[in-house]
Amino acid sequence: MDLYEYQGKELFRRFGIPVSDGRLATTPEEARAAAQELGGQVVVKAQVLTGGRGKAGGIKLAERPDQAEEHARAILGMDINGHVVRKLWIEKASEIAREYYLSLTFDRGDKKTLFMFTKEGGIDIEEVAAERPEALARLHVDPLEGFQPYQARRLIYGAGIEDESEQKQIAKIAEGLYTALVESEAMLCEINPLIVTPEGDVRALDSKFTVDDNALFRHPDIAEMRDLEAYPPEERAAREKEVTYVKLDGEVGVLGNGAGLVMSTLDVVALAGGRPANFCDLGGGGDAQGVVDALEIISADPQVKTILFNIFGGITRCDEVARGILQALGQLTIDDPIVVRLDGTNAEEGRRLLEEAAPQNLHVEPTMLDAAKRAVELAA
Ligand code: GDP
Ligand code: MN
Repeated sequence: MDLYEYQGKELFRRFGIPVSDGRLATTPEEARAAAQELGGQVVVKAQVLTGGRGKAGGIKLAERPDQAEEHARAILGMDINGHVVRKLWIEKASEIAREYYLSLTFDRGDKKTLFMFTKEGGIDIEEVAAERPEALARLHVDPLEGFQPYQARRLIYGAGIEDESEQKQIAKIAEGLYTALVESEAMLCEINPLIVTPEGDVRALDSKFTVDDNALFRHPDIAEMRDLEAYPPEERAAREKEVTYVKLDGEVGVLGNGAGLVMSTLDVVALAGGRPANFCDLGGGGDAQGVVDALEIISADPQVKTILFNIFGGITRCDEVARGILQALGQLTIDDPIVVRLDGTNAEEGRRLLEEAAPQNLHVEPTMLDAAKRAVELAA
């Protein structure tokens, strides 16, 4: 789960990383009040779960509260890389002398966390890595040893930081970032830019914070930060019903049981010349209610033209899935054709149930490829 800038900064603050004072605003009036309260120059920042806000015009300096309100009016509702701005972070403006970059992430190859630090911050780090790799200091931290002070010094000297006060501050920030990543069970903590003010203070001006979804149950305070409104309605419904759902942009809705089978189904749809609109994984259970929930979510996607069910019964029993399909068809109005391939445990019973009920928009096919071909054909 990605956190908004303001949420990441809240965590930074908890781990002793200096950030500027700020307020959240959802209306131009709130932005004005926030600017008034903060006093002086402020920066109005779009809160969206994507980068490059500055370039997109989603970050603006305001001299006075009325100007903050004006910027807020312009930025709210703006579309930044497909993300609509609904929240703003109004922050006390910083004077910037230099912009650095500091991040901590997993290096899965080395099975260690990896610090990256460069004095060339503010811009795309990929650019620095590709064009001037010598400017980018990289340092692995062994999880069993933890982050040691000598490593902080190595990182800082590696990037060529000569000022002693800066060295001290950055060492402390790097240590805070390491603790933040470990204690929050995060997968990425990035500060770009990490600024130095004309007075020589070092502080995080932006935050990118990605936590591990699978560890969220241990962090209720972070789990609470999830913003359901940032997800499309089907994704929200899927989360509430605990259905695994992923949105894609073709026209065939895909439903299968088990990640491997679902992935193969996507491939077979592509092989048949179609494109998946989305997919749901019923997992190992696949009881009737699970099928109803998944079908409801899949069919709510307006891009779906046909629905492809691909079930291989192991633990999942095909008769149970068939009952789920029939139950769903009884409860929901689904006009899209549904193509079903059932195989494995109780497949014959399942197919018999479907054929007996014979809903008119239901097509039973014997193999995965036949089913995919049929689904693609019907979507055309
Ligand atoms: P991003 O574009 O989404 O990465 O958003 P950032 O928070 O990194 O901001 C982009 C740029 O806006 C920064 O690199 C700064 O140059 C500028 N900026 C952001 N906050 C301030 C501020 O308080 N003062 C000044 N002068 N510039 C700022
Ligand atoms: Mn940034």
